Amino acid sequence: MGDSEGHPRSSGSAHDAWATPERRALRDLVADFTTREVVPHLARWEDDGALPRALHARAGELGLLELGFPAAAGGVGEHLDACLVAEQLILSGGSSGVCAGLFTHGIGVPHVAAAGDPDQIARFVAPTLAGRMIASLGVTEPGAGSDVAAITTRARREGDEYVVDGAKTFITSGTRADIVTTAVRTGGDGHRGISLLVIETDRPGVSRSRLRKMGWHCSDTAELHFDGVRVPATNLVGAEGTGFRQIMVNFAAERLSMAVQAYATAQRCVDLTIDWARTRRTFGAPLAQRQVVRHQIAEMARVTTVARTYVRDVLARWQAGHDVVTELAMAKNTAVAACDAVVDRAVQLHGGMGYMHGVEVERHYRDARILGIGGGTTEIMDEVVAGRIGLDG
Ligand SMILES: Cc1cc2nc3c(=O)[nH]c(=O)nc-3n(C[C@H](O)[C@H](O)[C@H](O)COP(=O)(O)OP(=O)(O)OC[C@H]3O[C@@H](n4cnc5c(N)ncnc54)[C@H](O)[C@@H]3O)c2cc1C
Repeated sequence: MGDSEGHPRSSGSAHDAWATPERRALRDLVADFTTREVVPHLARWEDDGALPRALHARAGELGLLELGFPAAAGGVGEHLDACLVAEQLILSGGSSGVCAGLFTHGIGVPHVAAAGDPDQIARFVAPTLAGRMIASLGVTEPGAGSDVAAITTRARREGDEYVVDGAKTFITSGTRADIVTTAVRTGGDGHRGISLLVIETDRPGVSRSRLRKMGWHCSDTAELHFDGVRVPATNLVGAEGTGFRQIMVNFAAERLSMAVQAYATAQRCVDLTIDWARTRRTFGAPLAQRQVVRHQIAEMARVTTVARTYVRDVLARWQAGHDVVTELAMAKNTAVAACDAVVDRAVQLHGGMGYMHGVEVERHYRDARILGIGGGTTEIMDEVVAGRIGLDG
């Protein structure tokens, strides 16, 4: 199995990439950042329902936000680096909720960076990667989630501006975001009528309300309303009608990130459960000496290791430019299934303590539930696989 930092002992080439000297140093940096600057405050941020803006500035200062972005947009490294940061943050006592709130830029501005407009990069990408600006992605609507092509938020062209009317929901970091990269309908029905438009949230006609939820409490979530919002046409990302394709391209990175968060959450719960089982005594002996408990934890470690190994393999092949659309969907579902099973077992093996607010496995149990819903649901992943293994006729 992997050690507690997620390094598999038997490493193939896909895994060696995670353990270069530079990446070991990055792992140490993230572990230190998490231990000192996240873990001591996390319970309060969970109660507050949001992360402080200062945390973004600090992450920007440490160079954590620019990882995986193209150099032309001020980025450095590969998507693997951003995934490694998320993995280590969770292994060091952070959470997928912190990843969602602190790294929303990973879904908020990659399209803007890839489109390559220097003015947009200067106005939106550079300040976001520096941690001075918070960026969100607004695709989901009250009437359209999985079916992205059905969105109805409309952007009508008037001279040098678009006028936007509609609503977005479940938007991560939406109550704090300075900008929202928004999927809007500029053309007719279907996916060809969709464009991406960056909307600054201080524009007249933008209103937002906070949504309360089961987990990810430190990651704020909002419903946004656009009522005749005037946005300069220079905020259009790429060409009109290319929004759907841009969204789909970036889903790959988002799905990999969520898969990494899933296996990292599972690994953290394995580690916490091993510690617990060694110290918790019942009927005169530690839980770790009961064969039924040992085997359950061995199984938790097995599914976690399988998930990590497969996700890293698919990530490596995706970065090398292979067509891994099918495997990406399988990887997300594999990691989510492992995580779901492990967080459930971790709570059970902690007994009543596992149900107590403020105990780490309880938070992971609640946080984990979103991983099979966000970034494409488990069922939509299965549809992707089904279509590509020959079930479409
Ligand atoms: C905490 C949180 C954060 C989020 N952050 C963001 C964000 O930052 N930006 C953003 O744009 N969105 C965000 N979302 C939205 C998320 O991407 C959607 O919730 C998700 O895509 C599912 O869409 P939906 O909720 O409309 O469910 P629906 O699409 O209505 O699906 C409902 C159920 O039906 C299933 N289903 C749907 N279609 C089919 C089908 N063809 N076959 C079989 N089953 C099907 C689904 O799998 C699901 O189980 C967030 C959601 C949450 C909860």
